[in-house]
Amino acid sequence: MNRTLPVTKNDYIDVVFEDLTHDGAGVAKVDGYPLFVPNGLPGEKAKVKVIKVNKSYGIGRLIELYEKSPYRVEIEQQDLHKYGGCQLEHISYEGQLKYKENQVRQVLTRIGKLEDVVIHPILGMDSPWRYRNKAQVPVGEKDGKLIAGFFKPRSHEIVDTNESLIQIKEVNEAVNAVKEICSQHSIPAYQEETHKGVLRHIMARYGKQTGELMVVLITRTAELPHKNKLVDEIVARLPHVKSIVHNVNSKRTNVILGEKTTVLWGNEVIYDYIGNVKFAISALSFYQVNPDQTRVLYEKALEYADLNEKETVIDAYCGIGTISLFLAQKARKVFGVEVVSEAIEDAKRNAKLNGINNAEFAAGEAEVVIPKWYKEGNAADVMVVDPPRKGCDEALLQTIIEMRPKKVVYVSCNPATLARDLRILEDGGYKTVEVQPVDMFPQTTHVECVSKIALKEEAGAQ
Ligand code: SAH
Repeated sequence: MNRTLPVTKNDYIDVVFEDLTHDGAGVAKVDGYPLFVPNGLPGEKAKVKVIKVNKSYGIGRLIELYEKSPYRVEIEQQDLHKYGGCQLEHISYEGQLKYKENQVRQVLTRIGKLEDVVIHPILGMDSPWRYRNKAQVPVGEKDGKLIAGFFKPRSHEIVDTNESLIQIKEVNEAVNAVKEICSQHSIPAYQEETHKGVLRHIMARYGKQTGELMVVLITRTAELPHKNKLVDEIVARLPHVKSIVHNVNSKRTNVILGEKTTVLWGNEVIYDYIGNVKFAISALSFYQVNPDQTRVLYEKALEYADLNEKETVIDAYCGIGTISLFLAQKARKVFGVEVVSEAIEDAKRNAKLNGINNAEFAAGEAEVVIPKWYKEGNAADVMVVDPPRKGCDEALLQTIIEMRPKKVVYVSCNPATLARDLRILEDGGYKTVEVQPVDMFPQTTHVECVSKIALKEEAGAQ
């Protein structure tokens, strides 16, 4: 069968890369047959080895670069590039931004068939390193010492990493300190294969605006040996620490956190601000990992919602109420909906913390709760959605089309599902007015967008 294809496994061939895939691999065409080669950049000439051939595409390995792209840079941290999800680390930041912006443009045209939509230049960071406020690293053992870092893909082997260049300095310091302290007290690492041992993961989260640090020790056993000594030493070593938490996860699972959490020292939560809204963050809460760019994103969402204190807003997929509370400052009333009930409890607590009393939160699926509200006669003037990667449920989109809010603000972490959903809204009487990509995750292939969508008659009148 392979004889009909232009390449055969183990061939060495010379190619020129034309494009990048959505996960950052170079794309070369051999007589129209696409070959995906990790590490290749558009414009580069290279020798590649064909390592896999499928019917409609092949996979290659880069053997030698004949001509380098002007966007290629030295890789700062090989481990992070290979195992830590920093697939774009070999591209200059300017090149990364260009790649992400192009990707949004291509997908909106190809999948969304949105020909005349305004896509603004992506908003990047001044410095695209040390932005992550959280780390959760698996723990293992080597030569009688604890190690912690990344899993090698498709294996249980941990690569020990003391420094991750995308994490805030305080987060790295916290992980390293806890690793060393636990190692000195001979806390056994958890072993996946045998389901024995104690320490599974170390997690650290840092409130960038407040300087408050939380450390979480995740163990298989309910018992944490030398608990008091560990706590004393962590407190002595990490001046920012405000909370030390013990989480027990006794299951055989890839899920990191278990259900049982006890505070070993300090507060149950740390605090942080996005803009002027204060958030209490507990060990189990979802909280955006790039606080600087989150603020950029939410400010854009607020601008696109264009509120004047008279509107009723529904914030679907609201998490711990971050966007809802941001909008509540300019709206008459905000209703947030989220499927995780603990997050709804956090959202309510965060509203109180900020003295915001025009925001209400309900736990449930957006595609169930919002249609029900609508049937009961409740409608929104502005709808905000921030769904997970799979995009909005069709039932929610249909309710939006029937409810006809003046404006929809769509925050998306996946351009492909954004494009699909924008097409549905366009066919239902809406117009995508503008799209603003925001780089929330430099060095990775992820791209976030916020879109302003208006009823066609309103968009025309603008
Ligand atoms: N807007 C929040 C969270 C966005 S992440 C923020 O900016 O922080 C997407 C959220 O959608 C998650 O909290 C997830 O739990 C929630 N979610 C997933 N499926 C859902 C559904 N069907 N209905 C409501 N919420 C859902």
